[in-house]
Amino acid sequence: MFVTKPTLVENPGIPAESAEGVSTAYNPKDFDTNVMGTYNRFPIALERGTGCRVWDTAGRDYLDFVAGIATCTLGHAHPALIETVTQQIKTLHHVSNLYYIPPQGELAQWMIEHSCADRVFFCNSGAEANEGAIKLARKYAHTVLEIEKPVILTANASFHGRTLATITATGQPKYQKNFDPLVPGFYYVPYNDIGAMEDAIGELDEGDQRVAAVMLEPLQGEGGVRPGELEYFLRLRKICDETGILLILDEVQVGMGRTGKYWGYENLGIEPDIFTSAKGLAGGVPIGAMLCKQFCNVFQPGDHASTFGGNPLACATALTVAQTLERDDILHNVQQRGEQLRTRLRAIAMNYPQLINEVRGWGLINGMELNADVELTAVDVVKAAMEKGLLLVPAGAKVVRFVPPLIVSAEEVDAAATIVEQSIAKLAASVNK
Ligand SMILES: *Cc1c(COP(=O)(O)O)cnc(C)c1O
Repeated sequence: MFVTKPTLVENPGIPAESAEGVSTAYNPKDFDTNVMGTYNRFPIALERGTGCRVWDTAGRDYLDFVAGIATCTLGHAHPALIETVTQQIKTLHHVSNLYYIPPQGELAQWMIEHSCADRVFFCNSGAEANEGAIKLARKYAHTVLEIEKPVILTANASFHGRTLATITATGQPKYQKNFDPLVPGFYYVPYNDIGAMEDAIGELDEGDQRVAAVMLEPLQGEGGVRPGELEYFLRLRKICDETGILLILDEVQVGMGRTGKYWGYENLGIEPDIFTSAKGLAGGVPIGAMLCKQFCNVFQPGDHASTFGGNPLACATALTVAQTLERDDILHNVQQRGEQLRTRLRAIAMNYPQLINEVRGWGLINGMELNADVELTAVDVVKAAMEKGLLLVPAGAKVVRFVPPLIVSAEEVDAAATIVEQSIAKLAASVNK
């Protein structure tokens, strides 16, 4: 029998490498004229992936330590996700909440059994989950606490999303500029500062106005990978218990195993009254969830809704992510690989004290903070690493963030750290010039 060899066809007219050595096989001209310019994109187009590795349209491969921004929990093309998504789309993918959705019920049960919450509302994104939390807190304030003008306190450098209420909740002016008037009823305090929190609660108690809720990230993600302090959260929980103020935690980035525990708050010795989840929950299929304890479960039919929220496809996928985390003991991997990564990054930081200030994080969300007084930004490091085949993402101007899939191997962590070391060495040489 004849076997014909496959003919290799060159990609017509597309250069394999740009001047910087980054592949540019995809021509973004039409893309840039048709899609709104809301993002600064890196000059590559990703086409496929498997595990912790992705390939661009020029055929170059990268170790993916971004994971769709802390989202692809099980990496790319995970067999369990392929199986679930395929089965569910063949069976039933969307029907609306006019009817009972069994996978939504099963996912809710898993989340309640694996967290401090008693009830769940499903939506499609982090911002939407936080909107739900804000609405729930306000309804609780009006109907139970009898506060006429409820205030929600959030932290400086926080990030809670891009809708109008959530950019207002976000304590960073750059996200709010030109979008005023913002939503009333939000005030900001420094993160991890219990004195400032006590002062604000006192000062805002005036006439019909009172603090109804505090909304915080257990670890500030976008704000620079800044972990919450145990003592701060213990004292804050006590204040909330004494005053009836609701404690809302935004677990959108750190929830679902990212820190080596299912929920970020487990690192802080406390339980929130309300918390939100999204990014990693369904491993990259869009989903959001807002959970609460029974005492503040005040939503009634008609109070809140979402057409896509909790659809069979998203919920079945999230359930598979959850079951895979448990079955494969992935939290253990997160703890081990996190330690390994921080140890390697701290060794690099020791060798370049003039460039790197600190390495910090929990589990597999880690940040490498560059010195404020050197002319080197997180984007510089991200670009240098990308040229060497590693994808990273900044968290603010000076922090390089490491959020690989939770299934990352010891070899992959090692390979990533080596690329970071080489990138820093190269940048150190140019900064010193
Ligand atoms: C990403 C993020 C959000 C917003 O999530 P979207 O899905 O982009 O709306 C909210 N809070 C935190 C902590 C996040 O990291």
